[in-house]
Amino acid sequence: MIEKSLYENYEIDFDEKITPNSDDYLFVFNENRELYLDNDKNLPTSSVEFNVNFCFYIGNYKGRKAFVVNVESDESFYPLYEVYEFDHDLYHIAGKAVLVNDWYVSHRFCGRCGTPTQLDEKDMMLKCPECGQNHYPRIAPAIIVAIRNDGELLMAQHSYHDTIRYALIAGFVEPGESIEEAVHREVLEEVGIKIKNLKYMKSQSWPFPNSLMLGFTAEYESGDIKVDGDEIVKAKWFKKDEIIRYASDISISDWLVQNFIDTTD
Ligand SMILES: [Zn+2]
Repeated sequence: MIEKSLYENYEIDFDEKITPNSDDYLFVFNENRELYLDNDKNLPTSSVEFNVNFCFYIGNYKGRKAFVVNVESDESFYPLYEVYEFDHDLYHIAGKAVLVNDWYVSHRFCGRCGTPTQLDEKDMMLKCPECGQNHYPRIAPAIIVAIRNDGELLMAQHSYHDTIRYALIAGFVEPGESIEEAVHREVLEEVGIKIKNLKYMKSQSWPFPNSLMLGFTAEYESGDIKVDGDEIVKAKWFKKDEIIRYASDISISDWLVQNFIDTTD
């Protein structure tokens, strides 16, 4: 995962009225939330070749203005995880830009009464002139936890993966529960054990499609591993030399596994 701050290269701002100049950066997305890059895999400085649906100024990226541009195009652009593989900086800010893109695409009409919404003059918010509902960018908190027991790490095989890859326990936070309650509940539901000494480590914006991943470590307390056979197919304890590492290091999951390996004898 990217360790440096988003704000190292980027200064947040928002304005719908500013239009791009030729030296500005454009984060151009198609309807599949893929990013357009030129032949040298750089951001374009013009969108004239596209049929533009909307364009917002979202702040300064490396000292120049940055815009989110949503276009109609039959071409396939770059999926975000692919951008990560060759340019972490670009991926970092594109991960924010795509969430702004999704927010506007999803809330042009009020979800409560169906009326066309209006952009707020100051904040990144869409207001409903009919019922008064405010629509902010939607971020879904989710937890992921590395559970240790005597130098071993618990990993599970999820049914939605078509490979036999093992992963850490993770899940979305339910309405009404705290982050900590979400971790204890997910672990109990997915593998049937109780944990203790829950410790928050770090978080990661995860725009696939709109999560905020909160990473924890914990220790095994009690219970036998029991999987539901539906969402989780298998789960077991791994010694550090039994863990298979994959090439991509995009996720906080990867960071947590590496942290286990680095801090285990
Ligand atoms: Zn409304």
